[in-house]
Amino acid sequence: MPAGQPSTPAFAADPDARPGLSGVHPDDLVSWVASSEFPPYRARQIADFHWGRHAATASEMHTLPASLRVALERDFRVDTLADTTVRPADAGLTEKALHRLADGRLVESVLMRYPARGSRRERATVCISSQAGCAVGCPFCATGELGFGRDLSVAEIVDQVRFWARRVTADGRRITNVVFMGMGEPLLNADPVIEAATALTDPARFGLGARHVTLSTSGVIPGIERLTALRPAWTLAVSLHAATPGLRDVLVPLNRRYPLADVVRAATDYADVTGRRVSYEYVMIDGINDTPADAEAVGALLRGRLAHVNLIPMNPVAHTAWRPSSAARVAAFADILRLAGVPVTVRRNRGEEIGAACGQLAAEQAGRPAPEAVRRRRDRVEREGAASFSGRP
Ligand code: SAH
Ligand code: SF4
Repeated sequence: MPAGQPSTPAFAADPDARPGLSGVHPDDLVSWVASSEFPPYRARQIADFHWGRHAATASEMHTLPASLRVALERDFRVDTLADTTVRPADAGLTEKALHRLADGRLVESVLMRYPARGSRRERATVCISSQAGCAVGCPFCATGELGFGRDLSVAEIVDQVRFWARRVTADGRRITNVVFMGMGEPLLNADPVIEAATALTDPARFGLGARHVTLSTSGVIPGIERLTALRPAWTLAVSLHAATPGLRDVLVPLNRRYPLADVVRAATDYADVTGRRVSYEYVMIDGINDTPADAEAVGALLRGRLAHVNLIPMNPVAHTAWRPSSAARVAAFADILRLAGVPVTVRRNRGEEIGAACGQLAAEQAGRPAPEAVRRRRDRVEREGAASFSGRP
């Protein structure tokens, strides 16, 4: 890109004002059918095609009269994803999709398949995005590097899941789990995210078991408090990454606004009120947050709480020289947590476990940031990191 030009491509305002059908409440669909002067049972038929067969266009709803199909396309977008490119990974067990939205923005979702093992049935987990980009700016995250683009609508969130449902249904499978661990901070787009999770777990809509939906947050306390008040059976995941305030300020910059101790308190309230164990995500970065002292700090923070820790070796990203912790380091960290009585799982470093590389594909495709900006950012991250670490206990 020639010097002096902005590195951020301009995005058109959304050229399509029609609401996405996936964001329309079933009662509103009934009202629309009535106001369009079709008999009430047509609403049920539309919902069956949309939620049961994951239709992408009204023309697939072949038992509807042509006039209703035309009216539906006139007033709604049956699918809000303009187009999608899929890339396989991990010998076909993982597939990554890059979705282009109507305004040209790119978001990513990932399908992870886990073959049946012992008494455990086969699972198919979809990792979805809640925003294009992210404002939080965690230095180890490809999405953070992109900066914030915009919030996704309810339909744009749900349609990522319907995309994969369409594909796996063709193989006689179904989606069993959804995790909000793709691009974006779900609880900074809380209304659409809560509505999308509601649609995904509504038996009359997508129909997933509530426990099979996980919302991951970097620690947006007002959002966690809203979830606690709603008392859903969704799983809450908190991205911890450090248990000492100075280090977490660097690794999760939102910590300066919502400090660690308050985040853990809010998450513990969620666990106590819902009876649901909170997952704490901990990305393991070589030499940065993986020492025995770091593990002891995590143990002291979480001991005695309804909590579970997931250790995830970092996926390397372009804008930092940081690398994943060695397997030995991760194992030693896990042992310390176990000794402290904190349940812990070590995730494999294949990107597929939680879609940890989510955001990287979109970052590549967007062609930004320019290499010079990456270098500057990398220098800054390392400077800030060094300053913070030198003051550590
Ligand atoms: N914004 C939310 C949800 C999306 S990120 C959050 O931060 O919780 C989902 C998970 O992927 C987070 O736990 C995040 O820390 C992790 N992640 C991001 N970049 C990663 C990387 N380079 N390697 C491993 N995990 C990463
Ligand atoms: Fe945003 Fe989550 Fe990435 Fe942090 S890890 S920048 S909160 S998407």
